[in-house]
Amino acid sequence: MSGRRNFIKTSMLASAALITPAAYRGNKNQQQGKNTAKGAKPIVVSTWQAGLSANKTAWATLAGGGSALDAVESGVRVTESDAENSSVGLGGLPDCDGKVTLDACIMDHKTRCGAVAFLQHIENPVSVARKVMEDTPHVMLAGEGALQFALEKGFEKTNLLTTSAKKKWQKWLEKSRYQPVINIENHDTIGMLAIDQNGDLSGACTTSGMAYKLHGRVGDSPIIGAGLFVDNEVGGACATGVGEAVIRIAGSAVVVELMRNGHSPEEACKEAVLRIIKKHQNLKNLQVGFLALNKNGEYGGYCIYKGFNFALKTRAEEKLIDAKYEIDK
Ligand code: ASP
Repeated sequence: MSGRRNFIKTSMLASAALITPAAYRGNKNQQQGKNTAKGAKPIVVSTWQAGLSANKTAWATLAGGGSALDAVESGVRVTESDAENSSVGLGGLPDCDGKVTLDACIMDHKTRCGAVAFLQHIENPVSVARKVMEDTPHVMLAGEGALQFALEKGFEKTNLLTTSAKKKWQKWLEKSRYQPVINIENHDTIGMLAIDQNGDLSGACTTSGMAYKLHGRVGDSPIIGAGLFVDNEVGGACATGVGEAVIRIAGSAVVVELMRNGHSPEEACKEAVLRIIKKHQNLKNLQVGFLALNKNGEYGGYCIYKGFNFALKTRAEEKLIDAKYEIDK
């Protein structure tokens, strides 16, 4: 929980002043390097503390010889169905109109991918995304069409707006600022990457997006190449944070391309973060974190502001790791 608290603190401090690229300081004490899991295959990594329990479920599939694809789907479903998590699936904070709208995607080792965006009333959008991938010639379905498709596939309508999320939204309505305030509550998207016993990679990403976003807003999370990208020859990457900034640099695709060109996962994530910093005049409230896993089971993460963490599970290890960061505030 301390990571989450730090994140809130960080974001609030960051909003107190205008932070420009020129003002940021890299933390010189942080060593860039390779992290290799001791029991490298199978392996699963996922964003934020919620990743710990999601990884456990993914691990059950991986340890039993199941596919990385099944693992990541079952893993992130745990977070989607957790009503206490206010950034993903059931219990997610709504948009400015009080509607919970979900974005998710999934990608496997054969470069097959599926996504849903702006989907309402369905608790496990990642599984709808998988159906889009497997049962249609398309990659992404959005809004009403995605809902219709989900219902046709047998998914049930659920009320995703919990009493507690509704109360928070009603409080927010008192001031009703359409610019989303950024804090941990809207930075808990789960992105997950796994390698199975065959050495194949898959990834998934799912979110309710930024709290109180404009109705119809879609972030990076369902966009292949932005919130998630997997290339089985190289590795995979996923993102969390302000989706607009991730989309602008095709974030996860960039991280995978950097790994293809020889960067370690952590270095690749750092380069992508630096690119975002370079492209934005105003870094106020602009938190982004990347997480990457390469084909050899090396993993790493990097973020703009201190506070992003990710969960790791292998045969030998199960832990939460603080990602390195660019701005120590
Ligand atoms: N990336 C997500 C979005 O922009 C938010 C998050 O990671 O918390 O919708």
